[in-house]
Amino acid sequence: MVHSALANSSAPIGYRGRFAPSPTGPLHFGSLVAAVGSYLDARANGGEWLVRIEDVDTPRSVPGAAALILRTLDDLGFEWNGEVLVQSRRLDLYHAALVDLQLAGEAYPCACSRSEIAAATSKKSVDGGLLYPGTCRTGLADGKAARAWRLRVPDREFVLEDRVQGKTRQNLEREVGDFVLLRADGQYAYQLAVVVDDAAQDVNAIVRGVDLLDSTVRQMWLQQRLGLPTPSYAHLPVVVNAQGEKLSKQTKAAAVDPSQGSSILASAMQFLGHPVPTDIRHGPVADFWRWAISAWSIERIPSVKGIYPGPCVPP
Ligand code: GLU
Repeated sequence: MVHSALANSSAPIGYRGRFAPSPTGPLHFGSLVAAVGSYLDARANGGEWLVRIEDVDTPRSVPGAAALILRTLDDLGFEWNGEVLVQSRRLDLYHAALVDLQLAGEAYPCACSRSEIAAATSKKSVDGGLLYPGTCRTGLADGKAARAWRLRVPDREFVLEDRVQGKTRQNLEREVGDFVLLRADGQYAYQLAVVVDDAAQDVNAIVRGVDLLDSTVRQMWLQQRLGLPTPSYAHLPVVVNAQGEKLSKQTKAAAVDPSQGSSILASAMQFLGHPVPTDIRHGPVADFWRWAISAWSIERIPSVKGIYPGPCVPP
């Protein structure tokens, strides 16, 4: 394990959650559900709630989207603690973490192109891509140059106790493979940035969409290798459109219209298994939040692992 300087040593804190949107477009109903779930869980536990803009994948980031997301959250009455952290300004920290892992021999250079990996294996990883066959694990072949850096993973089962989904088991070597920390295009991977930032911000409770459940064991392994604490996890059902696709910029999800106020917040709350009284749905946003914080109960959230069409269709 690496004993990095990334871990905070400040006094113990209470619940600290966060919402970490990628600015690939405006806030849509799917990301609103993650914002509402993480916010209510934090506030109902007397905790803090941070917002972080995850623009580490710069090619996918859309100029102006971060400001738009923040304005929508603000208009809907979300109140975040502290400054909004922006990943693209924190590349030094991701570099430091990668160097720690390189020096410890945990991270290794990889020369494989996508087509070379495809020629070497047909095994699929949990996220649908190809399971890296470990070609460069013992060193680069003669004449090959490093394109990316990967993290070694162990051949053993991890158990994740998720607050909504229950127990999830995953063997990283068999189901994921050594995964990328620094991509061939020079971008730090989400897995590395998210782990570094959650620790740097003392986030100890993560509430987000179930589409990230499969990434969590990778993040737990990185936390262990970097000597960082593991937060608690709660993975929420994910909203899909009429075609069964997860709402996203790629599936052309509509932007949340903040002028809908309590009614759009109520739809998100309802999606998370909390029926909303009519007067609250039609009342002021401040009343919605007061009611929602006291009504919140994580046990009510449907614990579906797959994508959940939900009892409510986004307006
Ligand atoms: N940035 C990710 C997204 O927008 C969320 C990451 C996380 O919550 O860990 O899908």
